[in-house]
Amino acid sequence: MATPLLLLEDDPAIAETVVYALGREGFEVEHVMLVGEAERRLRDTTLAPPAAVILDVGLPDGSGLDLCRSLRQAGGALAALPVLMLTARAEEIDRVLGLELGADDYLTKPFSPRELCARVRALIRRSQLVAAAAPATTSAASLHGRLAEPSAPAPREPLLVCDEAGQRIRCGDHWLPLTRRELGLLTLLLRHPGRIWPREALLDAVWGQDADSTDRTVDTHIKTLRGKLRDAGAPADLIVTHRGLGYAIDPKLL
Ligand code: CA
Repeated sequence: MATPLLLLEDDPAIAETVVYALGREGFEVEHVMLVGEAERRLRDTTLAPPAAVILDVGLPDGSGLDLCRSLRQAGGALAALPVLMLTARAEEIDRVLGLELGADDYLTKPFSPRELCARVRALIRRSQLVAAAAPATTSAASLHGRLAEPSAPAPREPLLVCDEAGQRIRCGDHWLPLTRRELGLLTLLLRHPGRIWPREALLDAVWGQDADSTDRTVDTHIKTLRGKLRDAGAPADLIVTHRGLGYAIDPKLL
């Protein structure tokens, strides 16, 4: 059976290419051109949700980034829906913003249809892994919501508490002695416990345009970060390496 996807894109030529390329790879793409249409489609509980959504940023009636944010804030299944952003602008701010708003991945236009297919497949695979890793009684969405909504009743305080305004992270009773990059990495990982972050996405979000950094840079910083967490008494495998995919915080150990 074809895997259902929702595409929000107002450029007919791009939409046609995407629908065709993904269709050949076994996806069934529902295409809408307005933010309002996409929102109505996704919130319609009589329809099965798509396996992932692909969102353009600039639309006639609003922004794909705003839709992404409202999906994440919606809670339930919508908050856990895999989101890939398509952006026409290559500026770093768009990428970081896309990820910080809760997008799982992004592609900068122009992109190759092949690359898009590979990213969508990886996105769906990652979300299935996260769903499988989450405890049966707790969905990935509610884990996401635990940090996003401090007012929600929590049985106990999480092991790590991020003070984003103060740019510091507490492990138990101790503030962690983190460098700027380590702080950036851990803050991102903690925003969505269980979500697997590809090295490339971490690199983009934390290092930006720093030309000297590579995937190895991320690995090196994760290593020192693990050392500091261990020194502070956190479990050794709190940051999980997902081979070939990236890094995630294990929500069960948090
Ligand atoms: Ca557009």
